[in-house]
Order: sequence, then C-alpha cells, then structure tokens
Amino acid sequence: MNAPTRRLRIAHLYPRLMNIYGDRGNILCLTRRCRARGIDVEVTELGLVERLDPKAHDLIFIGGAQDREQRRVAEDLRTVKGEALREAVESGVVALAVCGGYQLFGKLYRESSGAELQGLGLFDLWTEHPGPDAERLVGNVVAELEPDNGWRGGTLVGFENHGGRTHLGPQAQPLARVRSGAGNNGRDGTEGARYKNAFGTYLHGSLLPKNPRFADRLIALALAHHGDDRELGTIDDRLEEAAHRAALRLTGRRR
Ligand code: GLN
Repeated sequence: MNAPTRRLRIAHLYPRLMNIYGDRGNILCLTRRCRARGIDVEVTELGLVERLDPKAHDLIFIGGAQDREQRRVAEDLRTVKGEALREAVESGVVALAVCGGYQLFGKLYRESSGAELQGLGLFDLWTEHPGPDAERLVGNVVAELEPDNGWRGGTLVGFENHGGRTHLGPQAQPLARVRSGAGNNGRDGTEGARYKNAFGTYLHGSLLPKNPRFADRLIALALAHHGDDRELGTIDDRLEEAAHRAALRLTGRRR
C-alpha cells in the first residue's frame, strides 16, 4: 500500500500589505522545499477582512511592512483574525512572523508617529519606534539560534531594516543571540522571539532561502502538527548553503 500523501497547508496573511523586502520569498522557499520532497503544498492567501480557520492550516506566515500598512493590519487582527490566530498558535500551529508582522504578534507597537497599535499578545514583548528622524537598524545580521528541544539550529543570517526597537518581557524566549547586527533593539543581544511553534524575527532577505536548516525545522514542526513525523529527507542545498556561507563571510563568522 502506498504511503499516505504528505501535505503542508500554509496560510499567507496579508500578502499584498505585508510583503516588504521580498518576504514572500519565504512562501516560495517553503513550497519548493516541500515539493522537492513530494510533499503537496496548499497556500491560502488571506487579506483584510478574510477569516482564518485555525484548524485549516499547519503553518501561518506574515511578512513585514511600514507603519502605514501595519495600522490597517493591526485593526484587522483586532477585529477579524486575532482570536483565530491565537487559537492556532496555542494549538501548536507553526507561525513565522517577520519584522512588522513580528511586532504585531507582540503586545504593543508604538509606531513612529507615537500612535499605539494593539498587538496579538502572542509574544511577551513590546516595540517602540523612536520616531521618523531616529536611526533605523539596517544591515546584515548573523545570529546563533537558541537551542530548541535538542535541535541544533546553528547560525541564522539575514537582512534587517526597522525603526522599531523590540523589548522582551520576562516570559519571552529569544529566537537567537546576535553575533553581528542589531536584532531586537541593538542593545540586549537578542534577535526575535519564540512561543510554542510561533517564531518571530527581524530578518528579511528573504529569510528562509539562506537558512535551509531553519526552513526545514519549520516544515518538520508543521507536518508533525498534523501527525506526520516522518523524516523530511535531504535535497540539494548546495546553492542555499553557499548563500549562507557568503552571508557569514560578510561578517567574518563561521557557521
Ligand atoms: N514599520 C516597522 C519598523 O519600522 C517594521 C518595518 C519592517 O517590517 N521592515 O520597525
């Protein structure tokens, strides 16, 4: 009897609003990495006012954006998708939130105008943008992933461009420790956050193509969420590993 078809169901939130610095490349990367292994991928795009079914997806992605788009998304999270998103993450659905999306997964984002946007409160953190004239945190980043239940993640490379400074609360787990670049706030050496299977990061690039091990970690967690914990199998990552090494060389780091 043939093994059951493997399938990954992805929800891509606000693809037209939250897609700064090529963040949609993360969806293309996940899709390619699954299909190269014979895993079916279903991507559902959910824009403003479209409802999210917390049981219909194994992985949820939200990219970054400038303050203007974040205002519209924060309102939609508050009034349309927030409760379902919290239910999904609490049930173990994988989430990847990048930069502006990451900020809105926290408790509060005080944007550059000083207006406060309510976040989902999934991550115990808050973010403050010091104003339109403040220096932005821009550049290449290398960070060391925090140990994760025995998974050795190694280094994470990417590109950051944000004004907001994120501060972790006592319950927050950082995703990684900065070795080069700013990360959450350019001061405390943390980058991103993690809660259950929800991962937040400031790293654009897009992130996943240059971090194939992290991409596969997300895929494996998402498949396991619906009971498929079979090995992923290896694929040809020579290009991706070369891009990762090139990013490390930019900052004088070894993997
Ligand atoms: N507008 C937010 C900030 O400036 C997020 C930017 C982004 O998503 N790159 O911090």
